[in-house]
Amino acid sequence: MNIHEYQAKELLAARGVAIPSGEVCDSADRARDIASALLAGGDTLVAVKSQIHAGGRGKGTFKSGYKGGVKLFKTAEEVHAGAAAMLGNVLVTKQTGAEGRLVNKLIVAGAPAIEKELYLAVLLDRVTSRPVIMASTEGGMDIEEVAAHTPEKIFKESVDPAVGLMPYQARRISVQLGLRGDLISQGAKLIAGVYRTWLETDAALIEINPLCIIKGGDGKLKLVALDAKMSLEDNALFRHPDLQGLRDLAEEAPLEIEASKFNLNYIKLDGSIACLVNGAGLAMATMDIIQYFGGRPANFLDVGGGASKEQVTAAFRIILQDPNVKGILVNIFGGIMDCNVIATGIAAAVKETGMKLPLVVRLEGNNVVAGKKTLAESGLTIISGDSMADAAKKVVQDVGA
Ligand code: GDP
Ligand code: MN
Repeated sequence: MNIHEYQAKELLAARGVAIPSGEVCDSADRARDIASALLAGGDTLVAVKSQIHAGGRGKGTFKSGYKGGVKLFKTAEEVHAGAAAMLGNVLVTKQTGAEGRLVNKLIVAGAPAIEKELYLAVLLDRVTSRPVIMASTEGGMDIEEVAAHTPEKIFKESVDPAVGLMPYQARRISVQLGLRGDLISQGAKLIAGVYRTWLETDAALIEINPLCIIKGGDGKLKLVALDAKMSLEDNALFRHPDLQGLRDLAEEAPLEIEASKFNLNYIKLDGSIACLVNGAGLAMATMDIIQYFGGRPANFLDVGGGASKEQVTAAFRIILQDPNVKGILVNIFGGIMDCNVIATGIAAAVKETGMKLPLVVRLEGNNVVAGKKTLAESGLTIISGDSMADAAKKVVQDVGA
């Protein structure tokens, strides 16, 4: 589950991570008031930041034509105008896709002069099965780019979960980041705070990009988290009733929300061949084989090992709501799954929705004979696939690549 920058910053600040002073708001008038207070308090520039679950906001463009989802202003009136241009409008960035995201909230914060932009992240390293702190002197850019072109500028510190992050590790990263003097201890404190936030919230990822060295009003250098991207581990959310409330349904694809109500693992993609599969591994393989034969999957959908007829019907309804879908591939390997349950669900769903698209079904395994009989007697036009490859070929042919 992804959360907003302002929510991440609250969790971080509560654990000692320095962030710029500011507030979240949902109206241009309120934005102006916050800006007035910041300017009266000594800030000379105010940042207005669109809150959406996607990065690249700085370089994004609104559908209205207004440029920039993160902007700096000198006066409260400019903040008012900027906030009015962002709120209620759709921001398109490199990460949102063409449809963009509606901006409902803004952070209005003091915008200190930046001396240097750095990068810091905490995540799980699947190779070592340990938390890893990742840092780079190249802040403010895509870390993927840095990793591809200048991997030597990325530093990693693996954490032994039994002892936790050791202070010397946090200091070592600070030094590698080029921090000197007092900034080294500021860095160590900030890194420890980010790590603690990651651990205590069962986060999957916390990314501070940029982590900035700024010059305070007193002329002293300070280290602050200027941006924060955070995603929480869904499977651990049950342990955090307080964090469950941070979910923003407006940011999630409506079909994915509908799917989660039925305990279906559905992820919308942008191809034209919908697939309904039992088991995540088989679902991945099905998407691969569709691509292999020249088609493009419209979704990932794992109905689970023991889906009910209701779940299968719901799954069908959900994949059919995607207007890009031109054909459907059902690929079931019945281990625990009873093929006849799937067949009954398919027959019911096709009748209920009046679906006319090509439907290719490959059924194999537990109770397959009864399943095939149900489909044959349903009166529906179903193309049966003899094998996974045969089924994929047939659906790609019918849909046309
Ligand atoms: P993102 O584009 O979605 O990652 O949003 P960021 O919060 O990272 O903002 C984009 C860029 O805007 C940053 O890399 C900074 O260069 C700049 N920026 C954001 N906030 C401030 C600020 O408070 N002061 C200054 N000077 N620049 C800022
Ligand atoms: Mn950023």
